[in-house]
Amino acid sequence: MLKGGCFCGHVRYEAHGEPFHPTVCHCADCRRIVGAPMVAWFSVARGDYRLISGEPARFASSPGVERSFCPRCGTSLTYCAENYPGEIDIALATLDDPEALPPADNTQTGGRLSWAFEIHTLPYRATQPG
Ligand SMILES: [Zn+2]
Ligand SMILES: [Zn+2]
Repeated sequence: MLKGGCFCGHVRYEAHGEPFHPTVCHCADCRRIVGAPMVAWFSVARGDYRLISGEPARFASSPGVERSFCPRCGTSLTYCAENYPGEIDIALATLDDPEALPPADNTQTGGRLSWAFEIHTLPYRATQPG
């Protein structure tokens, strides 16, 4: 069983069952909504996602798609599409242990930023500049 939550701790969840399709999404919607160049997700059966505390805010990011986020700190949490009624996508980096579920592929790559696949070639610095 996987556990996670938002940055501030208001929303906590558990993901039961077998997680599937851990992926990195490069679509423009994820980018704008999360404010990151790409967003890692994984999926579970919708009934296997359980809120333990807090109540996320929800909005339709496109017709038939509902996303949730923490109303206090803004952390993006989930993605649900009418076209996939049996599953819910959970923002992978909200897991308490994001190392537990490495992404297996990249998706929506038509929307990727030109530099997004070159990040690993940039210099690595252990601290922030300045
Ligand atoms: Zn929060
Ligand atoms: Zn996306």
